[in-house]
Amino acid sequence: MAKVLIIGAGGVGNVVAKKCAMNSDVFTDILLASRTIEKCNKIRDEIKKYIGVDIQTAQVDADNVSELVSLFNKFKPDVVINVALPYQDLTIMDACLEAGVNYLDTANYEPKDTAKFEYKWQWAYQDKFKEAGLMAVLGCGFDPGVTGVFTAYALKHIYDEIYQIDILDCNAGNHGYPFATNFNPEINIREVTQVVRHWDNGKWVETPPIIEEGSVHFTFNYPQIGPRESYLLYHEELESLAKNVKGIKKIRFWMTFSENYLTHLKVLRNVGMTRIDEVDYKGCKVVPMEFLRYLLPDPASLAERYTGLTNIGNIFDGVKDGKRFKKYIYNVCDHAECYKEVQSQAISYTTGVPAMIGAMMMVKGIWAKPGVYNVEELDPDEFMNQLNKQGLPWVVEDFNGELPE
Ligand code: NDP
Repeated sequence: MAKVLIIGAGGVGNVVAKKCAMNSDVFTDILLASRTIEKCNKIRDEIKKYIGVDIQTAQVDADNVSELVSLFNKFKPDVVINVALPYQDLTIMDACLEAGVNYLDTANYEPKDTAKFEYKWQWAYQDKFKEAGLMAVLGCGFDPGVTGVFTAYALKHIYDEIYQIDILDCNAGNHGYPFATNFNPEINIREVTQVVRHWDNGKWVETPPIIEEGSVHFTFNYPQIGPRESYLLYHEELESLAKNVKGIKKIRFWMTFSENYLTHLKVLRNVGMTRIDEVDYKGCKVVPMEFLRYLLPDPASLAERYTGLTNIGNIFDGVKDGKRFKKYIYNVCDHAECYKEVQSQAISYTTGVPAMIGAMMMVKGIWAKPGVYNVEELDPDEFMNQLNKQGLPWVVEDFNGELPE
């Protein structure tokens, strides 16, 4: 018997709401709230039609703490799943503290005017959540999220110590558009145009952004997909894993990008369309990136025509009983299958399913520690079990291939 409140009715919110409804033995009351109520109502109607479950909807401005608090006090959720945008993380955490509700999200807070991916703002809530006896779980999508759970699993069951983690994220799907992003365009483009960092021997090493000369990339042969060019990219879980995995020497994140995607991105950047500062357009203040977001396809709308596979996983290098070896843990997901199940593409699906599972761990009391946590700090076993049951089965293999130095 648990009440869940989901904030955000975009591509990921659609998956979270539907997967919660498919687990209505655990989530007995579901409320989906977002800025645009029509989007919530569309998802509600699909849930009734395809899953046969009734959910409630509400309009809320998640930038406004008092609006959130009155919604929380009215519905009295056991947990809030935040799948709005990273800009809303702190206001939703504040409202959770005020109303006495547990919190979970899939992306770290970033201020709107600077593209900074750091956990420091949310980690600063540690004492407040502890003192309130509440739990906040940060970054519980796939990456960050499952990549951290895979790490906790490897540390618990495979290794005594892990020296190196390479996270590899491949989307080999095709949506048929010349250029589109797989999740919120503004957040996605901010992420991929930044200077790249990876963790090496106790310090951050910087390399050029993926669209610049000198960016670091190599060809990796993804299981079930084949060779794809993979670019070194900064991703937020590098920060929490560097802190939470004792003895770790190196952590890198690689993501596949096509030549076509990179060319579009370069042009957009070169003509100023990815700027996040205000420009004056005929007396009207416009942020080019926000405007671009409105021109690009809505990520949720890609789902119907998306085909192909994603493969996201971690390659670990570590030691057990004095023996050094590498293991690869990954999931393969099929865009078209996600559409059949929940009218979604695989990027939203691989984010939304882990968010639902994380909330399930919390309401079942399996993850129940007051304070603010990244997923690798929590027990992985039942989460890994649920990944297999809820549509994201994983594979553990020996890895004997090559990774660049
Ligand atoms: P979308 O842009 O599709 O959806 C965002 C939703 O949040 C929209 O419904 C939007 O409302 C709503 N929203 C935005 N601002 C507010 C506000 N102030 N008040 C209330 N609702 C608001 O994004 P996605 O679904 O693609 O992504 C959702 C989140 O998931 C993002 O934070 C993203 O970074 C994260 N993510 C995490 C991944 C992971 O693996 N960890 C991978 C992919 C995404 P409206 O419709 O009115 O605009």
